[in-house]
Amino acid sequence: MLYHKIIVKGLVQGVGFRPHVYRIAKKLNLFGYVKNKGNFVEILINKKCQGFLTQLKKNLPQQAIITTIQTTTIEFKKSYEDFYILKSTKTNNLFDGILPQDLKICKECIEDIKMHSRFKHYAFTTCTNCGPRYSILKALPYDRENTTMANFNLCSACKRDFLNPKNRRFHAQPLSCKDCHIPLTFFSKNQIFSNEDAITQCALLIQQGGIVAIKGTGGFALACSIKHQKSIQKIRDFKQRPFKPFAIMVKDIAMARQYAFVSKQEEKVLLSKESPIVLLKKRKKMQDIAPNLNKIGIILPYSGLHFLLFEYLDTPIIFTSANQSSEPIITTRLRIEEDLYPLCDGILDYDREIANPIDDSLVQVTNSQVQILRIARGYAPLHLKIPHLKKNNKTQVGLGAEQKITLAYRKNQNIILSPYIGDLSHPNTLVFYEKTYQLFNMLYAIHPDVLISDKHKNYHSYDIGAKKSKEYTMIWEKKQHHYAHFCAIFADAMLQDSTLMPKEKVLGILWDGTGMGDDDKIWGGEFFIGNLKSYRRVGHFEEMGIYGGEKSIKEIYKIAYCLAKQFCKKTTFAKLQKQYHKSYPSIFPLFDTMIEKKIQSFTCTSVGRIFDAVAALIGVCNKNTYDSQAPMLLEALYQKNVHYGIYPFKIQKKIIKIHPLIEAIVQDMFNQIPKKVIATKFIHTLAYIALEFSKKTKAKKVLFSGGVFMNQALCEKIQELFQKEKDIKFYFHVFLPSNDSAIALGQVVNLS
Ligand SMILES: [Zn+2]
Ligand SMILES: [Zn+2]
Repeated sequence: MLYHKIIVKGLVQGVGFRPHVYRIAKKLNLFGYVKNKGNFVEILINKKCQGFLTQLKKNLPQQAIITTIQTTTIEFKKSYEDFYILKSTKTNNLFDGILPQDLKICKECIEDIKMHSRFKHYAFTTCTNCGPRYSILKALPYDRENTTMANFNLCSACKRDFLNPKNRRFHAQPLSCKDCHIPLTFFSKNQIFSNEDAITQCALLIQQGGIVAIKGTGGFALACSIKHQKSIQKIRDFKQRPFKPFAIMVKDIAMARQYAFVSKQEEKVLLSKESPIVLLKKRKKMQDIAPNLNKIGIILPYSGLHFLLFEYLDTPIIFTSANQSSEPIITTRLRIEEDLYPLCDGILDYDREIANPIDDSLVQVTNSQVQILRIARGYAPLHLKIPHLKKNNKTQVGLGAEQKITLAYRKNQNIILSPYIGDLSHPNTLVFYEKTYQLFNMLYAIHPDVLISDKHKNYHSYDIGAKKSKEYTMIWEKKQHHYAHFCAIFADAMLQDSTLMPKEKVLGILWDGTGMGDDDKIWGGEFFIGNLKSYRRVGHFEEMGIYGGEKSIKEIYKIAYCLAKQFCKKTTFAKLQKQYHKSYPSIFPLFDTMIEKKIQSFTCTSVGRIFDAVAALIGVCNKNTYDSQAPMLLEALYQKNVHYGIYPFKIQKKIIKIHPLIEAIVQDMFNQIPKKVIATKFIHTLAYIALEFSKKTKAKKVLFSGGVFMNQALCEKIQELFQKEKDIKFYFHVFLPSNDSAIALGQVVNLS
């Protein structure tokens, strides 16, 4: 008998797609089946039916995305007398599918928690439209037996819902209820509480000032009431993070508004299914939570567990990952007990294992656009189909750089980006990185053909590329750091603008902290003209000599001193030198000798270092105690919509000369010009440098990438200036973070 086979690819598993198909087929009186296959959906129907395809695309389930539909006619021996939802089968061609992401609990499930008998006060209430997916996934297809729910049996009521295509919980893989529950336990210092009691006791301890570790979707967070400053300080002391900003979790938007300004768009992101931490402008000082910054990270309850906790809490809680910075998120109570003893007064834990750890995502709204700062829960794994890339059937893997690392897999036009992993300098992160690599190889049933790493020989990703390619006979390529940034923003821009072609020449403005250049010097203030085939370094900031080695990158007053010595007038520097010798008597006489003898010196062109130097010169920050501290503090001083003019700069033979800029800033500092004026003028100057250079090269399209473009003030000023230029189109990252988390993707975007 002749049947029509329809293959639907995209985000079509674990989103209620099969019941959607089932309902349409029943309505149109079609016979056949629908089933998950690998990570796409296969449909068989007995009649050609245009109405079927139209309705299939119409009224899709909330989370479903269709990327392609293929139809063929086949001869089928078996004949169907009805329409069925069949059991999933495996396939080896998985790359076109989208891995399901972890989603925030939906409104209907929250209603169930409030009223429904089987789900009342049940923390793990979920349906096809919400709940954990990637974090519980062990293999594809996304079926319960391939998740960490495999060991939990459904009760008869849940089973009925699970098998009923008309029910919201049909094939909701993580489904469970109070009768077939996932045990939830609260371990206080001397008592153990279960299920509903676990939540009330945990909330009570928080109210009393206790510090607790709470297991979320992707790992453990540390929490305490923001009313208990001593507890906040205890967390700071323990983590040795004197100034790092903490995020807070609030009950709802109304509570968020008490602490921060929330625009309509920011509200939408806070309430979105991705439910990230959103950086918002502070309404209150909150010096103990986000010292000296103008923004605060806020997140809403994203799981039933958090929602229930807030039934008993009337103030926000500190919500910070339990791990040390840049290390992988912690997923087991054992690790919490080992690493965080005796800090925690209690641990809220549940019995479902986290298969794949995943952090909370971090975003901000810049230029009316959601800007991803950390790509994790909700946004990743990210699947992008990039038009105009070649189909060559080889699997390329981008190994990333070193910090804020991710992994990218490409086959033909499909690219999958892993969630944020961390900094490879930590041994635990290396283990997590390897696990993620193995996981993606397994999920997509692939053996990579080409590995691409950064050119920097001191980066772990370089060693990994060398080792793996040798061990498993794969091709190993190296890509320059800023060219990888260039390709990442090129891909991002191609998704924003379908007229941009891979061979079109554009200007890339690539500013960050550190990246190995083609001349074996450190780059970071780069202007490239190129396309996906090749690039030319057409300009850069002038070289700065930094002394004191890697240590100076944290102790940024040393960078300030180095830059002042090189770029200020002699008399200006002499005056500054006196001040520094007085402030740091044990450091500077020795440091002067180091400079003279060029001990531990390196040169760089990095804009990140200029931010550090300016922050230190004007006394805003002497040491970076956490990532991006100096630029964030400068941004906090920035005055929006105020014009103080800009600092002088020169572009000579395509080199940005910073002598006049540094001299003027030091003079302003001597003249006690307010710091907010200096910070604002400095950020405006950078925006003008970008514009001036773009005009000089007569660029028609300008692409921005690199960690520096996470600075909201700078991005907004650039937008303001470039919008006035009718002949220039410009692009910031929309789909990717602009820092080194984009490098892996940039590595696999090429013309091969
Ligand atoms: Zn739901
Ligand atoms: Zn049940």
